[in-house]
Amino acid sequence: MEPARAVNNFSAGPALLPLEVLQIAQSEMIDWHGSGMSVMEMSHRGKEYESIIGAAAADLASLLKLPKNYKVLFLQGGATGMFAGVPLNLTKGFDTVDYLVTGHWGKGAVKEAQKYVKNVNIVASGESTKFTQIPDPATWKFSPNAAYFHFTSNETIHGVEFGATCPNVPEGTVVVCDMSSDFLSRPIPDIEKYGVIYAGAQKNAGPAGVVIAIVREDLLERALPICPGVWVWKDQAKNQSMLNTPPCYPIYICGLYFKWLLKMGGLEAIAARNAEKASRLYRVIDNSAGYYISPVHPSCRSAMNVPFRIMNNDALEDMFLKEASKAKLLQLKGHRSVGGLRASIYNACALGQVEALVAFMEQFQKAHPTPPAPAQ
Ligand SMILES: *Cc1c(COP(=O)(O)O)cnc(C)c1O
Repeated sequence: MEPARAVNNFSAGPALLPLEVLQIAQSEMIDWHGSGMSVMEMSHRGKEYESIIGAAAADLASLLKLPKNYKVLFLQGGATGMFAGVPLNLTKGFDTVDYLVTGHWGKGAVKEAQKYVKNVNIVASGESTKFTQIPDPATWKFSPNAAYFHFTSNETIHGVEFGATCPNVPEGTVVVCDMSSDFLSRPIPDIEKYGVIYAGAQKNAGPAGVVIAIVREDLLERALPICPGVWVWKDQAKNQSMLNTPPCYPIYICGLYFKWLLKMGGLEAIAARNAEKASRLYRVIDNSAGYYISPVHPSCRSAMNVPFRIMNNDALEDMFLKEASKAKLLQLKGHRSVGGLRASIYNACALGQVEALVAFMEQFQKAHPTPPAPAQ
């Protein structure tokens, strides 16, 4: 059992961190390991910080069982920066890229790629279903000559998630995945099928301020000359992500987070815990006789972000948010672009927190079985 927090926080990001990570950071804040310095005060070129960033990269590689021909990079600019960083690093000698769009973030990635690449081909889009399902793979239209194929493994706002394995793509395709909101939530059994994986840390792996990139070494030779220097992966790889001053403190917290995941039993164990949490939550939705509604097709429901509505009724949802907040269940409002409600139940969220939410949902349905009468 993990100790309870003062509130149950279901934020989509920046999100909950494991209590133990925060406690270690607190105890080391002023004097890191007897150095007399805070991690925020030390040179990134010193032996102390080198050991911090080195351990973070090594622990991440060990969690992911990362093959030797991949580099771990800690970069700045967030996942949104990577929307530009990906085409800028991978399209030398190419004029076409392929994107699969299954929600808000995939669309954002396309928009950014269009600035740098002549042909941004949409392999398929879930927009006609309001991003409630993944388009049937039989309808995906790959280009014969794309530099890469990009997809979003978990759409944080729409709650649409791919399975644990890489989608099927034509032989030789370089697969690039925005894994921001399900990174480290489960093992990646076929990691060698990916060319690049990236993830903003603030969902499932640490605090805001650092984006993690995993890049297959042979792809380091394809940067466009206009790529900003701090984003040239080859140069960052050569410099252990310290071409310039890295986001030292966020990387340190990520390192503590990776150690916590290892201690929890690694990604297999965390995946089992995540699956249990998601199934508890979807069970309450499915057993509510249509009171709670999950808009997402059951074949691609996210285990990390669970959007739902209550009888499609805004007033009932407002009441839910107010009462939930009194019960110390926080940050359950859906993203402004889609409305409704959303519970984000990332790695750091304990089963007990989901149990508290589920109990509240059952009690709320009993107390408010029908929408309130409209105000006169
Ligand atoms: C949050 C998120 C982003 C944007 O991340 P920033 O770090 O804010 O740039 C991109 N993609 C996905 C899937 C996300 O969840």
